[in-house]
Amino acid sequence: MFTKILIANRGEIALRIIRACREMGIQTAVVYSTADRDAAYLTFADQAICIGEASPAESYLNIPRIISAAEVADVQAIHPGYGFLAENAHFAEVCRSCKIEFIGPPASAMAAVGDKVECKRLAKRAKVPTVPGSEGAIDDEKMALKLAEQIGYPIIIKAAAGGGGRGMRVAHNDVSLRAGLKSAQLEAENAFKNSTVYIEKYVEQGRHVEVQIIADSHGNAVHLWERDCSLQRRHQKLVEESPSPALSPQVREELCTAAVRLIKAAGYQNAGTVEFLVDQNQKYYLLEVNARIQVEHPVTETVTGIDLIKEQIRIAAGLPLSFKQKDIKQIGHAIECRINAEDPARNFAPQPGTIQELRVPGGPGVRLDSHVYAGYRIPPNYDSMIGKLIVHGATRTEAIARMKRALSEFHISPIRTTIPLHLQIMDNQNFLAGKVDTGFIERVLLAK
Ligand code: ADP
Repeated sequence: MFTKILIANRGEIALRIIRACREMGIQTAVVYSTADRDAAYLTFADQAICIGEASPAESYLNIPRIISAAEVADVQAIHPGYGFLAENAHFAEVCRSCKIEFIGPPASAMAAVGDKVECKRLAKRAKVPTVPGSEGAIDDEKMALKLAEQIGYPIIIKAAAGGGGRGMRVAHNDVSLRAGLKSAQLEAENAFKNSTVYIEKYVEQGRHVEVQIIADSHGNAVHLWERDCSLQRRHQKLVEESPSPALSPQVREELCTAAVRLIKAAGYQNAGTVEFLVDQNQKYYLLEVNARIQVEHPVTETVTGIDLIKEQIRIAAGLPLSFKQKDIKQIGHAIECRINAEDPARNFAPQPGTIQELRVPGGPGVRLDSHVYAGYRIPPNYDSMIGKLIVHGATRTEAIARMKRALSEFHISPIRTTIPLHLQIMDNQNFLAGKVDTGFIERVLLAK
């Protein structure tokens, strides 16, 4: 087993990894930018190394500086967390060529699933259903119009290198397709330095259901059941739960086995997520594979009792999975609410600044993954998520009641957060009935 690991990330996920390492008796070194220099979680690590200025290019995305930090700290492995360099195949390769293990999949598997167009090809071979659409990149308007005619509107234009819901446009007719194509390409170029787009059928009122998978270097691959992440704003998840209230036991089983088939075909190792869209008839289509640990992983940890970060570390150290498929059960119901420093009353404007007052929820079945505290200054440079509130209940009804109770105990001031929106969701009749889709929040809750 490793004796020391470098954490190449920040905020709540850096803290989450430090916690797992401390329980495993592994020393940690954490990198930080000047914007994070006062963050208290740095003191929980055995070593903290400043790698540069606030701008991600100068710090959390800077490969040479992170590798230097790993060498100075004399670690055997790097955990990339999520975001930043987590899905950068080049970074994974650089780590390993410097004889530092990258806690994640092999670079080849990451590249195979990372490009959405390539991934769809892989899915076809593994007999995993994909959304009808272009076989590859869309080169020009004529090609797009012809395909749209074949598939039928509405369609969605997506960036091949996409992430975080960016570079996506829904088109309902030829006119909006023409306009959407141009703006999606531009957005993709700006966000990912890659203007390649593709189109697929837009699944109306679909649900986002994803499968947590994990595979070791000994040929074992299993799934840890699904998470339903249909509650989104601008294609970004806000609430996640497991099990999904919308799947029949048969579809759940099929979906989860399809996910395992796909990652086996990709030669995948370590933790990953296979994302699907499920339509109103419970037909499912592959969306993409996320080759990393995800924000919402605690939902799965809560229902299965498996610590995914510890398992990631064991796998990277060459150990076989510590459980078999038949041992993994979904027990009770878990829900996660993302607490973002954004003002729902002002179109989700980011709320950087200092948290003056903070009272956090607790009690039975409540988990809070967060790095913030009273006196913490939220830097303006990074993602606005400041924590994740996760609850566990024996049933979905109990989990919802518990989430309402926990949200109402949660007090943050003067920073505004998504807590009021979450309270509204927990009271919504459609949500209570398990009847929501990916457009629900915008169509119903935020429509004025
Ligand atoms: P990203 O990598 O940017 O997160 P995804 O491919 O995972 O992009 O899609 C994010 C969200 O966008 C989905 O959860 C869903 O809400 C929406 N979406 C993507 N593709 C489709 C589609 N074909 N039909 C309907 N909604 C879609």
